[in-house]
Amino acid sequence: MSSTKISSLSAKAIVSGLASRSFALDDVIATFVERTKKVCPALNSHVFFSEEVISKQVDALKKTSNPESYPLFGVPVLVKDNICTMDMPTTCGSKILAGYVPQYDATVISRLRNAGAVIFGKTNQDEFAMGSSNENSAYGPVKNPWDLERVPGGSSGGSAAAVAAELVPVALGSDTGGSIRQPASFCGVVGLKPTYGAVSRYGLVAYGSSLDCIGPITRSVEDAAMVFDVISGHDPKDATSLHSGSREIPNSEAMVSKKRIGVISELIGTGNDLDTTHSFKEAVLELKALGAVVEEVSLPEIEYSIAMYYLIATAEASSNLARFDGIRFGHRSSDPTQSLKELYLNSRSEGFGKEVKQRIMLGTFALSSGYYDAYYGKALNAREQLKSAVKRLFSQYDFLISPTSPTTAFKIGEKIADPLSMYLSDIGTIAANLAGIPAISIPCGMSESRLPIGLQIMAPWNQETSLLQLAGIYEKKLKWSERYKPNV
Ligand code: GLN
Repeated sequence: MSSTKISSLSAKAIVSGLASRSFALDDVIATFVERTKKVCPALNSHVFFSEEVISKQVDALKKTSNPESYPLFGVPVLVKDNICTMDMPTTCGSKILAGYVPQYDATVISRLRNAGAVIFGKTNQDEFAMGSSNENSAYGPVKNPWDLERVPGGSSGGSAAAVAAELVPVALGSDTGGSIRQPASFCGVVGLKPTYGAVSRYGLVAYGSSLDCIGPITRSVEDAAMVFDVISGHDPKDATSLHSGSREIPNSEAMVSKKRIGVISELIGTGNDLDTTHSFKEAVLELKALGAVVEEVSLPEIEYSIAMYYLIATAEASSNLARFDGIRFGHRSSDPTQSLKELYLNSRSEGFGKEVKQRIMLGTFALSSGYYDAYYGKALNAREQLKSAVKRLFSQYDFLISPTSPTTAFKIGEKIADPLSMYLSDIGTIAANLAGIPAISIPCGMSESRLPIGLQIMAPWNQETSLLQLAGIYEKKLKWSERYKPNV
């Protein structure tokens, strides 16, 4: 099989091709290494890539006696740079962690390695996962493979761009307010944010701990299901980790028939661009044609979701990021005459970027005495109300849907000077994080200027199986990825 064909294969097809000896492990690895070296410089999708580290893993894999028993045997997987890997640096897209190599693997990494996957490198991201465009990375912006002048979305932009450009079939991202789904939507790939706690956060560098989730970015729903199966499950090392059962994914169209789907009316209004509105309407028609009952529903709490998110996430971040003090981790300011307090201050001032500093200040303010009740406390109450409203909706509907993002990928530089308009681009995705429910973004259309558009489907807590079923059936009908490919 030619190398261009191998690079287009899904993870599932790679595993079965290796099992049937249609091609060898060395062919797979060489294909993706060559393609990465060729395409990566134009995208700036990686912050770490080493053939030597890859070879070591491949040599170990070759020694295994029964490769068939490994569900991801030989599959190259890229990992967002806020997930700890003991054989590669983990910088979170920040100068403050430049060169930092963790002493342990995150649980998701151990699970991937135990399943036979090859960790292929680390992907570029917005610093500490704070951003929607990847422009907040200390290592430069990532380019969208559909149009190199545009952003890939964020904060898992490197992961989504690399999967779209066929540099790997699978990448991991993290999603605190939309960072898996929004870049998946901008890059025309599949992104799954699991139920909060379904995938262990052990070894994920914390941003907003009550919201953070790790999940897969792939080119097919089937691959997302396969990877989710490997990385999910209870982990005693994460106190918020859930127990979960088996996740068989039978993809019968019959499952859609009579399913009740709510369209969130607050997310289909005038804030969306015309192409997005059009593609979303088509998606609704498609779901109806599959037999689903689709109705508009109201979730008025959405209006306050961005405000809640920017109080809760920044409050948690201000505490989580306190550990980067120049003593224990990463960058230390070099002036020998400074006091301890100055050392903290200077190390943090030099190491963190502008957006991170802005959010630490916002979070510290929201938590400070005199303002705690007025801001942070209020946001927590509002979050409970949103959760109750979501619960009520799920007593009447099996799924909720919306466009993943109000617009297609915007130009690099277009929104960076206007944080509010950047923050507003997450209006569709944040509610799922605040409620803790699973949500997926899958391609549903293409704009006139040939930019991908994503459909978001949300399901009740722990219903990843039916979420993936519905997404898989819709994907098979639409055949989006068979019709469109980026030109990189
Ligand atoms: N774009 C959102 C933000 O800027 C969400 C980020 C995320 O999910 N990590 O914070």
